[in-house]
Amino acid sequence: MFVRFALSAKLHFSREITPEAVEAIETAVQEANRQLFRRGTPSGAPEEQIGRITRWQVNASALALDIESGPFTRAHDALFRFRKHIAQVLGRYRLGVREISIAAFRITMPGPIPDEAIPKLPFIRQVRRQDGAVELDLLFSASDLEGRVPDRLVRLIEEKKEALTYGGKAEHWELIYESEQRPRVYAGDPTQEMIERGWIRHGASRGQWIFAPQAVHLFRAFEAIVMDHVIRPLGFSEMVFPKLVPWEVWMRSGHAKGVYPEIYYVCTPKTRDPAYWEDIGDYFKVTGVVPVEEIRKRIDGPIGGMCYAQCPPFWPFVQGETLANSCLPIRVFDRSGTSHRYESGGIHGIERVDEFHRIEVLWLGTAEQTIAIADELHEAYRHIFDDILELEWRSAKVTPWFMAQEGLVGESADAAIGTRDYEAVLPYSGTWLEFQNVSVNGDKYPKGFNVKIQSGAECWSGCSGIGLERWTAAFLAQKGFDTSDWPETVAKLAGEPQEIFTFL
Ligand code: ATP
Ligand code: ZN
Ligand code: MG
Repeated sequence: MFVRFALSAKLHFSREITPEAVEAIETAVQEANRQLFRRGTPSGAPEEQIGRITRWQVNASALALDIESGPFTRAHDALFRFRKHIAQVLGRYRLGVREISIAAFRITMPGPIPDEAIPKLPFIRQVRRQDGAVELDLLFSASDLEGRVPDRLVRLIEEKKEALTYGGKAEHWELIYESEQRPRVYAGDPTQEMIERGWIRHGASRGQWIFAPQAVHLFRAFEAIVMDHVIRPLGFSEMVFPKLVPWEVWMRSGHAKGVYPEIYYVCTPKTRDPAYWEDIGDYFKVTGVVPVEEIRKRIDGPIGGMCYAQCPPFWPFVQGETLANSCLPIRVFDRSGTSHRYESGGIHGIERVDEFHRIEVLWLGTAEQTIAIADELHEAYRHIFDDILELEWRSAKVTPWFMAQEGLVGESADAAIGTRDYEAVLPYSGTWLEFQNVSVNGDKYPKGFNVKIQSGAECWSGCSGIGLERWTAAFLAQKGFDTSDWPETVAKLAGEPQEIFTFL
């Protein structure tokens, strides 16, 4: 059983096809089936798995073709190979291909394929089940076929089918390091106590906090520790990454494949002409209500969203470039703004919010350089959490299930690709909280943004997101609010909590 493709197409020529040209087509079809379509197929591949023209017919200026294939020289590839060939052959009769129209396209995939694995896409016209296989009737244009949409559709269905077999389990989790246990000095929920002490208050937007000086001192203390023990000793330089991310960036970073349920979307006005907006402001002035439905009609986009992962909007800086060997590895970081995620019902305290603050560390170079820097970071972080913050923490390699299954977790260099989560125990709930991670992303970003290395070596990159809310939640949950219980460095850097508001 193998995947099958079948199509009916018409090549439209510049004028009527003459009888001599018909003879030439006859020969060309035979040649294509015998040789042209066999090119590049595995030797010994059975005949029925290779593309072939099963029927052809000339009608005035059009040549109708039926092409069928298995996995090799797929029907659509065969079509374009044949177009090139026939254009040469018929050029001699002063006949040029003007246009290709696709009358029918069918993909047959061997089963079992659950219904949920079949995507809902506009060009899927009909889904039939036949002898355990699934038959898809598709509406494709020639440019869809040239853009290899059928191949990606097959791949997508295979991916969805695989994902379903893991039944919601997103990640394979493997413990790498576990710190010593620490004495329990506090059992409260730090968010509650921060509120009571006036360190934080809810912002007006969902999942958003306003941080008062006491909390910010702690943020800045953590930042200083990161600067002293990670950023400076490992030689990272500060950059400022944009925080509004257009689709172009997420298309290249891969986030466009599935980030939609968590995006804070961004729109632009249709015009900045004040007259166009005057009645909106007037409506508010008179009623005290912002007419949201009316505004919706007057905006364009969404053009993208607010920063989700912090590193994608860096990449246009190096997009399309070849990096000199001498500047590698590049080590940078960004702490210039907020990240935004629509966490819906998942919002909890300061640890899961819709608006949060992160230091994002990013590096790129050869595979060896990229892996080496990840190792340096792991070591620096271990020192911070064991010796400076004195946390009870652990780290684990998390691998998407499909990767774990494909054996990508093995001995090869590719085994280094993936994410290591850092987790801290929250005594008040007994659960573990991911407070940061380190990812080796392989060639994913350099490929997506077309970045090369002078030596010709494969370019890799990595990133590490340090979540300040999560560090704060983990630290306070374990150490409490009595600064005499705090490790010395943190106590010194944070100073005594400073009270500047008095509410009556
Ligand atoms: P989780 O599984 O907890 O949702 P995630 O896998 O979505 O986390 P990443 O996308 O790996 O998180 O983001 C990297 C870091 O960003 C996290 O380790 C955490 O420090 C921080 N972070 C992510 N989402 C949030 C959030 N909603 N609130 C606060 N910090 C967050
Ligand atoms: Zn990143
Ligand atoms: Mg998340």
